[in-house]
Amino acid sequence: MSDPNEPEHPPIPEDEALARHEAARRDTAEIEVNIFDGVRGHDGNPVLPVRLKADDRFCFSCHKGVSCWNACCHGADVTLTPFDILRLARRFEAPAAEFLERYTVPAMWQQADLPVAKLKMAGKAGDGACVFLDHEAGCTVYDDRPATCRYYPLGLAAIKMKDADAKEDFYFLVKESHCKGHAEDNLQSVSEFRRDQGIEPYDEKNRGWIDILMKMVSWMSIGGPQGTAPSAQTKQMFFMVSTDPAGFRRFVFETKFLETYEIDPDIVEQLKTDDEMLLALGFDWMKNVMFNEPTLTMKPDVLQAAIARSRDDLGAG
Ligand code: SF4
Ligand code: SF4
Repeated sequence: MSDPNEPEHPPIPEDEALARHEAARRDTAEIEVNIFDGVRGHDGNPVLPVRLKADDRFCFSCHKGVSCWNACCHGADVTLTPFDILRLARRFEAPAAEFLERYTVPAMWQQADLPVAKLKMAGKAGDGACVFLDHEAGCTVYDDRPATCRYYPLGLAAIKMKDADAKEDFYFLVKESHCKGHAEDNLQSVSEFRRDQGIEPYDEKNRGWIDILMKMVSWMSIGGPQGTAPSAQTKQMFFMVSTDPAGFRRFVFETKFLETYEIDPDIVEQLKTDDEMLLALGFDWMKNVMFNEPTLTMKPDVLQAAIARSRDDLGAG
């Protein structure tokens, strides 16, 4: 069993097997994943089957005068993105681990079988009010509300076409019967709505995390990356990278991580205090470990040792 204090090493490419698996994955049918689906209630299927682009327009407005004020903040399924957690933990001046403990519940993001944190909702069945809702004032963390809440009533989806690696984002409208905002006379484009809701920095900082979820869904069709499900340890690391900057910082600076990978000394210095940069490193590391992507470079002596180990394992050394 591997030492949990040691950084996981990416697999050494066994070119032929990898190429076979990669071909199998690329051959899978078109994959469409809803990243933020925004659905709050149980209105059958409120997602309109129309793909929206940035210039497409829709009618919607939410304000304190609507009869449904706060209806969408009950029983909401809000998966927190890594940048949501950074912003909210900063707001409470609390370490992310403490924030998670108080305000979230652990869950699996089923489509990718990866662990995430969701906002706590009151009530045994989780159908009560959001932990941040004040019935008079509304959302008490409005300036730092999560990406899912900013997107609502839009959803974000990504699509990967058959035989392609690149994916494309698109948006869709969620029309739940309890939400009266759709009857308001306020026509706007998707990009105007995204700008008004302050969504862009969230999408930018969460991009690596979204890429990992999307890639995992894509690989699931053949049982996981290179045909194997990620280990429990890899999932644990993914959760740490996505939710606990202090934990990941300790991992980077207190294990052999920096002896293993080539990282510019200026960046190493910044990683000591810059949580956003740490997130980006974490996503690159996970892509390297999970999908063998060249997002990080191993130091030559470590790489040689890993190749020798791999040959020994195959009985060729
Ligand atoms: S974080 Fe705010 S906007 Fe989001 S569900 Fe909770 S109260 Fe509503
Ligand atoms: S208009 Fe829609 S988004 Fe606004 S409070 Fe009502 S249910 Fe929530």
